[in-house]
Amino acid sequence: MSFTLAIVGRPNVGKSTLFNRLVGKRLALVDDQPGVTRDLREGDARLGDLRFTVIDTAGLEEVTDESLQGRMRRLTERAVDMADICLFLVDARTGITPTDEMFAEILRKRADHVILGANKAEGRAGEAGVLDAYALGLGEPLRLSAEHGEGMDELYHILRPIADEFAERAAVDAPETDLDVSEDAPEDFTPSAKRPLQVAVIGRPNAGKSTLINTILGEDRLLTGPEAGITRDSISVSLNWMGTPTRIFDTAGMRKKARVTDKVEKLSVADGLRAVRFAEVVVVLLDAAIPFEQQDLRIADFAETEGRAVVIAVNKWDIEENKQEKLKALRAGFEKLLPQLRGAPLVTVSAMTGKGLDRLHAAVLRAHEVWNRRISTAKLNTWLGAMVEAHPPPAPGGKRIKLRYATQAKTRPPGFVIMCSNPEELPASYTRYLVNGLRDHFDMPGTPIRMFMRSQA
Ligand code: GDP
Ligand code: GDP
Repeated sequence: MSFTLAIVGRPNVGKSTLFNRLVGKRLALVDDQPGVTRDLREGDARLGDLRFTVIDTAGLEEVTDESLQGRMRRLTERAVDMADICLFLVDARTGITPTDEMFAEILRKRADHVILGANKAEGRAGEAGVLDAYALGLGEPLRLSAEHGEGMDELYHILRPIADEFAERAAVDAPETDLDVSEDAPEDFTPSAKRPLQVAVIGRPNAGKSTLINTILGEDRLLTGPEAGITRDSISVSLNWMGTPTRIFDTAGMRKKARVTDKVEKLSVADGLRAVRFAEVVVVLLDAAIPFEQQDLRIADFAETEGRAVVIAVNKWDIEENKQEKLKALRAGFEKLLPQLRGAPLVTVSAMTGKGLDRLHAAVLRAHEVWNRRISTAKLNTWLGAMVEAHPPPAPGGKRIKLRYATQAKTRPPGFVIMCSNPEELPASYTRYLVNGLRDHFDMPGTPIRMFMRSQA
């Protein structure tokens, strides 16, 4: 079973260009298909080894009056309803328009999966527009150039797990093997309230990933009976982790699979990176005896750049002798080696004995909560006022930079926009001061925080 991707967005953002790139000449005759109108083009898309159906709301004119706007809206809604995933394109060169905002609104209400694509992002001309796109509140924009084929790799990696999910769903026929957790999940468990908490456990070979997952599974079995509610496939394990519906991406399992196909070394790192993309929360599992390996640092850094929540778990704590001292050294090491992950929770565990796994569970839930958190504009601006008063921004050339207003533009991870007079003059150190202050004041450990300085439009 494959999935259907709808490319939506206002006219001229590059939908047809992308459609043509994905479909090539394999265009379906839309008119022959029942239920599909002439206004929607449909084709068989190929991206790497992925095969899927793509629909494009082709032939729309720029909106000039009410009736056209209504038509555009209806057509888009129909495409959204037909699709499993929507790729919402905006034009990185022109920035966000009110029509884009109208589309964003439709998608937020109506679509399950939305990928936000900032097209025409080749070269530098698209930078501002990409930042602009954050404000749509639909997550990190994917930089694309439909015309030059840039960003197709990224798109592939975003679509791959979704494709796997569809393949899995198709494979599950007996209801008792289908772990449908959405019923018991609390309302706000994840924003879509449909998917379990997605966790990746990453770390070098022998860090103890398999042991950790097996211990978690073992504990779950004690609570729920043998194999109850646990489903396992080649890349993930789904279970009720201490009452939390969770899907854990098992990179150790991936590695073992990779070994069969004989590409061991290359794949173990690549799979770690891929698991990061699947995940909402990344658990970086370290061996207490060798905590600062280059590979671990690299993946932790990648998790930060990808905007994932991060929890650091130091394993094999059972054989550690000087626990107090070691912990101090570990914390200091992290501050220095991964300043971008300042304040990430550090939990000591023993995957073997199970000690500390309850704290790991709590840290993961907390990081996830913080990653999803939305702070009210009123609170933000009270905070901003105090920060500016405690330590005013510099005054290059005698003209003080003014920070006027802050608002949260996105979550997962939290992103903030601060309206600012000549933002290009504001030193990076001041932005760091704000990010650190925000993290402390609102108590937000374990999540990247994005902050954008914008001049007033
Ligand atoms: P649609 O109305 O959304 O289907 O947009 P089109 O695919 O017809 O593209 C509108 C215009 O944008 C055309 O002139 C394309 O050549 C151009 N375009 C599409 N993709 C890109 C891109 O990645 N970069 C640049 N610079 N132009 C693009
Ligand atoms: P993976 O390659 O990351 O999946 O690591 P494994 O789970 O296969 O573990 C590698 C080795 O470390 C095995 O010999 C485990 O028994 C051992 N190990 C894993 N967790 C612990 C732990 O908490 N304490 C101790 N002492 N050994 C552990």
